[in-house]
Amino acid sequence: MRRNEIPGQDELKAVITRLVDDERVPHALLLQGVKGGASLPIALFLTQYLMCDNRQQGDVCGECSSCVKNQNFTHPDVHYVLPINTSKLVKSGKDLKSEDFGEFWRQTVSENPFLSLQDWYNVIDIEKKQGFIGAGESKSLRSKLALRAYEGKFRVFVIWHADRMNPDFGNKMLKHFEEPSSNTIFLLITESPSKLLSTILSRTQRFQEQHYSDAEIARFIEHKYQTDYNQAMNLAFRAEGNLQIAVKEANDKEDPWLEVFRNWMRLSYRRDMVGLYDWSEAMARNTRETQLIFIESALKVLDRCFRLGWLDIHIPMEGEEADFYKNFSPFINTSNIKSFMELLEESAFHIDRNVNPRITWYDTSIKSVRLIHQGKKLAANS
Ligand SMILES: [Zn+2]
Repeated sequence: MRRNEIPGQDELKAVITRLVDDERVPHALLLQGVKGGASLPIALFLTQYLMCDNRQQGDVCGECSSCVKNQNFTHPDVHYVLPINTSKLVKSGKDLKSEDFGEFWRQTVSENPFLSLQDWYNVIDIEKKQGFIGAGESKSLRSKLALRAYEGKFRVFVIWHADRMNPDFGNKMLKHFEEPSSNTIFLLITESPSKLLSTILSRTQRFQEQHYSDAEIARFIEHKYQTDYNQAMNLAFRAEGNLQIAVKEANDKEDPWLEVFRNWMRLSYRRDMVGLYDWSEAMARNTRETQLIFIESALKVLDRCFRLGWLDIHIPMEGEEADFYKNFSPFINTSNIKSFMELLEESAFHIDRNVNPRITWYDTSIKSVRLIHQGKKLAANS
């Protein structure tokens, strides 16, 4: 990862590269990332910079053997600790560890280092389960710490979504923090430091990623994907500060949830109860996280519809997406926007608490029929 492959964060980049230049890198760092940000790419850059044989004024050389290995995710002294769970993809005994998913990790992160935790869960196919950093990982950590670094320089443990670690792993790590071996660095990445043990927090030096502006995201997308600036700005605007979504959409070229939402609203408008039943079944088959992501996306679509239709605000859009908003937004108005948002927030609350998702979605669908027709009535009278 090169310095300019990460948008913005000039101050953070300057601070971490200076630590390396001055040989003052602490043995436990905590990188507090923003939701949908670039904390993983920043950690990858820092790791590569630390190990580079030919640093170039705050950037990696990209060519030395250390850089090549880091860029291929094959450096023997860099260990990735990731949230995982049992999956059909790997044979698992009780000591499941990140290395078991090594090939999947290398391939996924090489293709897109701006990946979200949910993207990773989809890749490793753990279905409806949550990932965690557990006992198998502790054993693996202990055996790695017992050995010397292969190449004799730094040894780095990149712990992605460190808040997913269980106490067993946390305690192993703490023990090491108390008696650190030289040149072993723990690089913890998390969006929720408050979920970490306070004993861990107090032993790490903390660095914080800043939120991204639409313009920063747009410039990055424009440069990385050679797109037109207006198109990049449109994408950045829709991503609402979430760099991971913007990158994903630039790769996919469309909002993955809009079609699902559009279909749901079409069925509600037609009062197609059988269709809504099938739609609820299909939605309920997604993982809990995916359902919550859909709700987040649906809330944004509703908000946009309301702003477009009622407040007469211009939002840059094109093609099919623009048609959808033009046709649908009149039905989202003062008669139903508040109730609709509350309805979705309530569904998120139920899904988050493991209420049967089929019942939740069908119930939400029935209520959405009523809300859409309420909106239609007001639109017809105005
Ligand atoms: Zn290098």
